[in-house]
Amino acid sequence: MARGTDAMLLQERLPEIFDGVADGVSVLDRTGIVRFANAAGARLMGAERAEDVIGRPSAEVLGHFDVLAEDGSPMALDQLPTRRALGGEATPEAVVRFRIHGTLKDRWSIVRARLLRGATSADDLVVTAFQDITALKRSELRLSILSEASAILGQSTDYEATLARVAQVAVPSLADWCVVDVAESGREPHRVAVAHSDPEMLAFADEVQRRWPSSANPSSGLDQVMRSGRSIHLPEVTDEMVRAGALDDEHYEALRRLGIRSALVVPLVARGQVLGALSLIDSTSQRDFDDDDVALAEELGRRAGAAIDAARLVHERETAVRERDEFVAVASHDMRTPLAAISGYAQLAHRHLATAEEMDRAALDRWIGDISSSADRLTRLVTNLMDASLLRGGRSVPLYLQPTDLVQLVKETIAEHRGTTGDRISLEVEVEPVTGKWDPMRLARVVDNLLGNAEKYSPEDAPIEVRVGTDGGWAVVTVTDHGIGIPPGDLRRIFTRNYRARNARGVAGTGLGLTGSDRLIRQMAGTIDVRSRLGEGSTFTVRLPLAAHVPAADATVEAEPQRGARPMHADPASPAASADLPA
Ligand code: ADP
Repeated sequence: MARGTDAMLLQERLPEIFDGVADGVSVLDRTGIVRFANAAGARLMGAERAEDVIGRPSAEVLGHFDVLAEDGSPMALDQLPTRRALGGEATPEAVVRFRIHGTLKDRWSIVRARLLRGATSADDLVVTAFQDITALKRSELRLSILSEASAILGQSTDYEATLARVAQVAVPSLADWCVVDVAESGREPHRVAVAHSDPEMLAFADEVQRRWPSSANPSSGLDQVMRSGRSIHLPEVTDEMVRAGALDDEHYEALRRLGIRSALVVPLVARGQVLGALSLIDSTSQRDFDDDDVALAEELGRRAGAAIDAARLVHERETAVRERDEFVAVASHDMRTPLAAISGYAQLAHRHLATAEEMDRAALDRWIGDISSSADRLTRLVTNLMDASLLRGGRSVPLYLQPTDLVQLVKETIAEHRGTTGDRISLEVEVEPVTGKWDPMRLARVVDNLLGNAEKYSPEDAPIEVRVGTDGGWAVVTVTDHGIGIPPGDLRRIFTRNYRARNARGVAGTGLGLTGSDRLIRQMAGTIDVRSRLGEGSTFTVRLPLAAHVPAADATVEAEPQRGARPMHADPASPAASADLPA
């Protein structure tokens, strides 16, 4: 009797016992009516409580799900383990993916079913157990996205192309939109990839980006991530947020059409530098980016950052090697002429001394003068070569400071340009001389670079005006041209290495001259600035301290005034110089 009571008590408490089981359990009769479900089973069927499903046909309960195979392909209902068990199959098992109609919220379960035979077949029951493996499947999916993305990133150093493919991998399994923006050194980020499964939306996004570039929008998540280097996760992007981020009414409408319901923006980082950002956008509210998605996106950001960094290093190395080879080729070619002159005049003088009956002092003087100026040219070429390699390595050059007349120096440099430019260059001297303690050879190179650019970036017959004067304690030289000018957005950047303005692409150049000039002038405690109007012309201004020169902190050598040598052509191989060459 006591045992019977125990059994009855136990039976009564069975639902409660099953509610403590993590797996979902349901019991169906032969007609497909749900006879029992534990709490987990009811949840998996989309209900809050067991009472909501018990007594209802299972087809109705499952009606708001798409029943899919593990990989997302449609699954025939007779393949469901419950149906197969009813068909007499012993404990069938399958991984089933359930998707709420019209959403992308998928859940995966391992489903096992067993037929409990009754006295008659009408009394048969099927017990089904659902083991929820969604977390496992999600992490598998993330790993596969990550490994596919890594494989793509490792395939090529053309990172714009690889990032475009990586963006494709994230869509639509991870997000509706995947956008990648990358910033070249010191520039605004530009869009390198946009992925969406609908080509029409892609074209529309393109147009939106062209009209309202996100880099120009300080309230965009991109800007914040680029500045802070930290991810932004907006689980819900409200209409007010879209309105606040829109630049105008039309932009607001466009953003609404793009549909940004939640967003995740992570930095692309490498060696502590933020190189760009990857944005994942959900436009259906059907996905919730969770902490695992944030971690995955951040990992993608790190891998993409490392790939960009590696590609840039390879590119920089290749460029450096190419530039060095070109430079060495040009320099060795340029050295031939003065070397031939030195050797020729030396032989002439030698022969004259050996054979002439009377010494022609005037001829000898001319020949020795030519030997000396050829040697000067060689010195300049060799110094250029050394400076280029020091500046490329980010080091300062050893300066040879000596009293120098800027007017004389500018006149000589212009004279060297006359051969190529005829009378295009005019010189206005406000006061003469303009003297200071500068490195004449390096200064001449800076002026030469400014004249060369003025010639390159303006029409052949356009005048170039050079002015030399003083302004308070400063010596000032300006070079003005009437050429293509510089776009305002590029003005600050033309002094950075390898940077070339957008409108300079049709003109040969390396983007190195101004970087070197800027560094040299700063080493002489001066400044170099530019003012320009696009399509009208540019004025470059070099200012140098006139008298008591306070040298910049970097390696600076004050050379002894050289006897016999013209100040413009100091000897870089002098002991004072080599002793202070930066390591
Ligand atoms: P390069 O001329 O070899 O490209 P520079 O370092 O001398 O390199 O100049 C950097 C960039 O600045 C050029 O590519 C060009 O875009 C711009 N620039 C320099 N000088 C001028 C000028 N006088 N007029 C227009 N653009 C100029």
